[in-house]
Amino acid sequence: MRAPLPPDRKPAVRHKSAIACLLMLAAGAAVTAAGAPAAPGASTPSAEEVAVQLRDAAMAGHDVAYSWVSELTSRFGPRPAGSANEHDAAEWAAARLKALGFENVHIETFPITAWVRGPEHAEIVAPSVQPLVVAALGESPPTPAAGLEGDVVIFPSFEALKAAAPGSLNGKIAMVAYRMVRMQDGAGYGPGFAARADGPGEAARRGAIAYLLRSLGTDNHRIAHTGTTRYVDGRVPLPCFALSNPDADQIERIAALGETVRVKLFSGASYVTGAHSQDVVADVRGRDKSPGVVLIGGHLDSWDQGTGAIDDGTGTAIMVAAAKLIRDLPHKPRRTVRVVLFGSEEVAQPVAPFGAFGGHAYVDNHKAELATHVIAGETDFGADRVYGVALPAAVANSDFARTVARVLAPIGVLMAKEPAKGETDIGPSVEAGVPAFDLMQDGTRYFDIHHTPDDTLDKIDRQQLDQNVAAWAALVWLAADSDVDFRAHAPAAAPQAQ
Ligand SMILES: [Zn+2]
Repeated sequence: MRAPLPPDRKPAVRHKSAIACLLMLAAGAAVTAAGAPAAPGASTPSAEEVAVQLRDAAMAGHDVAYSWVSELTSRFGPRPAGSANEHDAAEWAAARLKALGFENVHIETFPITAWVRGPEHAEIVAPSVQPLVVAALGESPPTPAAGLEGDVVIFPSFEALKAAAPGSLNGKIAMVAYRMVRMQDGAGYGPGFAARADGPGEAARRGAIAYLLRSLGTDNHRIAHTGTTRYVDGRVPLPCFALSNPDADQIERIAALGETVRVKLFSGASYVTGAHSQDVVADVRGRDKSPGVVLIGGHLDSWDQGTGAIDDGTGTAIMVAAAKLIRDLPHKPRRTVRVVLFGSEEVAQPVAPFGAFGGHAYVDNHKAELATHVIAGETDFGADRVYGVALPAAVANSDFARTVARVLAPIGVLMAKEPAKGETDIGPSVEAGVPAFDLMQDGTRYFDIHHTPDDTLDKIDRQQLDQNVAAWAALVWLAADSDVDFRAHAPAAAPQAQ
């Protein structure tokens, strides 16, 4: 794990070399795959050669991504869905995208019920009084004004809670102590996600008065990792909190001494009905009239306690920077590159259909256009390096995939064995038939800070951020400048590269 580099760490020569690369492209100069100028009279660079140049320009240090996430997180701080900060950030993003030369820049609003944390505290009241560090889970209802008090019943896993008999938790506080495992691909999050999303509902069904979850996080700091929960019959049925991992361990140790742990909880959370969120849309128009759209996105909203730097300020920054590099090429790609900065990814997800989120709103607004979306990708996993690329099954064994592999291998990105699945924001588009691609990032340290007050700008490693921009710019360019049909279901049909 490298320490973040200071903002001024880049020597001027890096900028010069990046600019030189782009100037070579601007002049239409032919370049070899190795980046050296080709012989005079050589033809226009191939799509692969342009992809190499985009990659190398980003790796040399391209300022758009870092300055975007720095200004976004400094100017607006936390951007919970439906808040003034989220709205203002969207206005700022649209203005900035216009200034960067994007076309068709506009904001699409959609209604949501916003959730506001409010004051909160928790303590162990027996066998001894001890403070606890908690964070209400997203969409949690408030406790009564006097708080809630109950004995804690600990379950090692969500499955163990679900095995409890109806009524067995009457008057109790249920606690799931699932321990998230640190993994490069973040796979430890999946088993815990259901415990967070559905834990409150399952605990309420068995009579519990509140729900506690050991944080879905890999750190051992006294910070609680929030995250959203799922409605049951239109609401989250009981107050629910994430416990910091050391606090969860403390409760488990006291219980292991044979004591009954009694806890008192308070939350002043509230809801704002009639609120709205918004998607920000911006295009780099393709040169052909109707060749389709390459959709890329990240989410502009964030949790309320940090400043949403790694989740997902960097995602929006990587998207904008990659598209900007493509936009500044001397000739347009064949297809349009569309950047969508989604709203309301965190709190409202996954409660649909009760609460819409940006990905659903985009599909609702662009139904007629979705058939022209040739492929979609999303980044929502921090700013650490990309190590893998997954493409739609249709192109698994194609010239296109071989070109992608050649361009990305030199920056440490290997072709995944499994086809791409897509993520939350592009999920509804993928469900509607748009093929997905993934650039997999190193998530080893992501869940140390995910959804905590520690999600701040200083956690971003600028060199790794640049590598993300490099991978995205090169891959998105290749997809946008190609005529490959990513929807085809027969790889044997040998789709053409570029
Ligand atoms: Zn996110």
